[in-house]
Amino acid sequence: MNFKIKKYQELRKRVYRRDNYKCVSCGWQPPDIPEDYNGRYALYDYNYSRCLEIDHIQPQSKGGTNCMDNLQTLCSKCNMSKGAKEVDLWQDHKRKA
Ligand SMILES: [Zn+2]
Repeated sequence: MNFKIKKYQELRKRVYRRDNYKCVSCGWQPPDIPEDYNGRYALYDYNYSRCLEIDHIQPQSKGGTNCMDNLQTLCSKCNMSKGAKEVDLWQDHKRKA
C-alpha cells in the first residue's frame, strides 16, 4: 500500500477519534461508527448524504500542515459552508482593495 495513503488513513482515524466522531461545528454524528474503524473510508450517512470530513484549519494552500493541531472533524455540510465563507471574505477583501 502507498505510504502516503496509509499515513492519511491513520491521521483520519486519530482526528475522528480525538473529536469523538462528531462535527466540531454543529455536533453532527454519523449513525454507524464501527468499533474497529480504521480510517480507510469516510463515515457516511447515506440517508442524508452527509459524511464526516477532515478539515484543514489553516488551508494547505496557505501553508497549513497535516499535523493533528491543524486538522479538525467537520461534516460535509459545515465544510461546504466554510468554503463559501472563505470565498465571501476573499470577495470583500477584493472589493475594498
Ligand atoms: Zn457540521
